[in-house]
Amino acid sequence: MGSRFKQHRISGGIGGDDRFWEALEDGELRLCRCGSCGAWQWPAHFRCGRCGSWEHDWPLVEPVGTVYSWTRTHMAFPRTTARAESVPYVVLLVEVDGTDGARLHGVLEGPADALAIGARVRGTIHPPADESLGYPSLRWALETAEVSR
Ligand SMILES: [Zn+2]
Repeated sequence: MGSRFKQHRISGGIGGDDRFWEALEDGELRLCRCGSCGAWQWPAHFRCGRCGSWEHDWPLVEPVGTVYSWTRTHMAFPRTTARAESVPYVVLLVEVDGTDGARLHGVLEGPADALAIGARVRGTIHPPADESLGYPSLRWALETAEVSR
């Protein structure tokens, strides 16, 4: 059986990040790194932009980082109607530690009181769901906040 996200894939993609989604669906965060020169490749590519190698590794990455940017959504847009019950919600763009600045999006869980650019966050991986359009998701929580589940 294939990965569930592939049944919901947005058409037109080249699949360079399939390994990321497969790993996330297995509960792991893995990002693309050149197997020759070691440069992080995010967004993922098939060929290294630094050295031209086609060889890539997908090392495990701890889901921790700092808030690079964020936005609060106050309405459910046509492709996000499954999130209608959650509005308003906050989506973070997080710079992941140890990846030379790879940035990942994810919804903020828990209180947003201490939310700020540069705040420390920790991610948790969630299985594919309707609210994430059939993809697994990474959700972030402020490291100072208690997350109620
Ligand atoms: Zn390279």
